[in-house]
Amino acid sequence: MASESRHYENPDLWTEDRFASSREQQRLSITAGFIPNEARSLLDVGTGNGAFLALLEARQTPLSLMGLERSQAAIEAAVCQAEIRAGSLDALPWQDRAFDVVSALEVIEHLPYGLYERSLREIERVAGEYILVSVPYREKRRFTPCPYCGCRFHVNYHMRSFDERSLAAIFQDFDLTRFQIVYIDDYITAPVLRTAYRILGKNRQFPTSAVCPQCGFSGSSPENTTLSGALTRARAGLRDKIKNRLPTYKRAQWIVALYRRKSV
Ligand SMILES: [Zn+2]
Repeated sequence: MASESRHYENPDLWTEDRFASSREQQRLSITAGFIPNEARSLLDVGTGNGAFLALLEARQTPLSLMGLERSQAAIEAAVCQAEIRAGSLDALPWQDRAFDVVSALEVIEHLPYGLYERSLREIERVAGEYILVSVPYREKRRFTPCPYCGCRFHVNYHMRSFDERSLAAIFQDFDLTRFQIVYIDDYITAPVLRTAYRILGKNRQFPTSAVCPQCGFSGSSPENTTLSGALTRARAGLRDKIKNRLPTYKRAQWIVALYRRKSV
């Protein structure tokens, strides 16, 4: 299995509490507010464990809901009632314009070359009237060195970053009609700490979900000893002590965008 696929099969990525934080719920809630009232059906592609579908179900939406997901680990961890079909985004098993809305939340930044281009066309094909997208906003992508071979890569496999201008150009048959930047509270120290970690380089934590695209070394490998558990805990404790004393600022974290099919 390719490293990129192995990354998404890590069950740690799909635990319910990863999507239960107030930040994630804020993002999902704002995104749900973009769904036009007249829509009757929604397909959420790259739905993961179905956290967005579960939020819509909790709101007793009249929408008929469906999910699509490539990761078997994510489907097994499903938190929604709606069906999540296993499949790839570049070969959607539905007819043209099968759903009023197709949503892709925190998905398209992950898609590798080729799959990305084909998937955008497929989303356009099965979307009847609307496409709803959320992605990190102007992400400054950081690359972590693999502790085994040194290859530097984005540990979450983000292939690209977006702003409102680049988002406006991704679909051929749909216009960007509305967008919103979602701000989160972040500690003033966060950029300083990130810079310090970057300078320290080798002491950077290699997350358990990370899988090196070059050699296949994984963060869950027993040999992953770049940072001992005790050191990680000590560092986290120190970081919390520093940041809890300092004020927060509003950081632009995500952008939510709604597209509508061009009238011919
Ligand atoms: Zn490696």
